[in-house]
Amino acid sequence: MPTIDLDFDRHHLWHPYTSVTNPLPVYPVVRAYEVFLELEDGRKLIDGMSSWWAAIHGYNHPVLNAAVTSQLQSMSHVMFGGLTHEPAVTLARQLVTMTPEPLQKVFFSDSGSVSVEVAIKMAIQYWAALGKVAKKRLLTVHSGYHGDTFAAMSVCDPVTGMHSLFKGTIQEQYFAEAPACRFADPCADKDIADLSMKLERHHREIAAVIIEPVVQGAGGMRFYSPHYLIRLRELCDHHKVLLIFDEIATGFGRTGKMFALEHASVVPDILCVGKALTGGYMTLAATMTTEKVAETICSGTPGLFMHGPTFMANPLACAVASASIRLLESYDWQASVLRLEAGLLKGLEPCREFRHVVDVRVLGAIGVVELQNPVAMATIQRQFVEKGIWVRPFGRLVYLMPPFIMCDKELGILTATVCDVVQSIR
Ligand SMILES: *Cc1c(COP(=O)(O)O)cnc(C)c1O
Repeated sequence: MPTIDLDFDRHHLWHPYTSVTNPLPVYPVVRAYEVFLELEDGRKLIDGMSSWWAAIHGYNHPVLNAAVTSQLQSMSHVMFGGLTHEPAVTLARQLVTMTPEPLQKVFFSDSGSVSVEVAIKMAIQYWAALGKVAKKRLLTVHSGYHGDTFAAMSVCDPVTGMHSLFKGTIQEQYFAEAPACRFADPCADKDIADLSMKLERHHREIAAVIIEPVVQGAGGMRFYSPHYLIRLRELCDHHKVLLIFDEIATGFGRTGKMFALEHASVVPDILCVGKALTGGYMTLAATMTTEKVAETICSGTPGLFMHGPTFMANPLACAVASASIRLLESYDWQASVLRLEAGLLKGLEPCREFRHVVDVRVLGAIGVVELQNPVAMATIQRQFVEKGIWVRPFGRLVYLMPPFIMCDKELGILTATVCDVVQSIR
């Protein structure tokens, strides 16, 4: 059996958000199947993360494996400049069909962050084509997360996104208070007053508002009222500002709707999807927009959209994405997500009793335990692994987003273990 050289890893590899001189432990995985991650020493962990929202069908799924293998026989990649192929056309047709009617144009890219860059470029090129060259800035809300590249970083929460570190190299954007109205509540005037005031004051310079609809992910795992989005759409229309929805985390069923925007029936001008798009198999994202935005962009100078990644619309990624969407649509995924929602609510409920827990919240297949103080990542991670689950908290948040295929028994173990460990760190 091959052994993973952890020493080499320690000395040469950078992991996400880590130090190379003082690295946190990493766990060697040799296999992943269904809802399990198998470590090199044979331990099997129940996965509570879906590899960061992505693996909605679990791992090593025969249908998705077959899609990649079959595509591999004809072509793994060709350039998308001047060429096209069935996997891209089929996937684009699926995306256009499953998203709101006005979103007709699809731009494929390789990661969520790049799809956000593309969305921002689209918004700026749109206004430039209309002669409004001053409209180059973005407005967003606090506690957001949109990726790690520079333009994406500029619209992440200024504190957790480390804006001070990169001051002068990232565009300064406008920030409004994060939506305070909870998921089940209406959106009162005061809940959107700050954003409204900033639009009023700065709309001449603002190309677009960018926001994660209903669920703010890595910026704080906050859920807010869909009514906020209805009012936001009205404000954007009133002030002539485009609206970008970042559904990279929420897309493909996670919140109980296929897309989170369906909670509000609000249609953005630009939509970003990624993460679960390929069921967690490959890296792929898409930016979608309306005929109006696309045609306006192409009516300006230079008459085209200025972006084109080398691996745009990678056929392997498109093929597995298509298969993943077909798989999702082939069964009652909404019932699965509702079942997970009920299981998360019931299973995490005991955490409410702990004095160092500030809040427990669940929406769709997302469960969050918010603590009073930040966790010691390495310690808590080890406790989870020793008890047989894979959960990776950040800051004050211990959160779960299991694969949709997780059965009640495994979910029960997962939540009970989270409660156990959370209780022990008081
Ligand atoms: C993860 C994420 C991104 C960035 O996607 P990457 O594929 O990591 O570049 C952007 N927006 C949201 C809401 C995300 O959750």
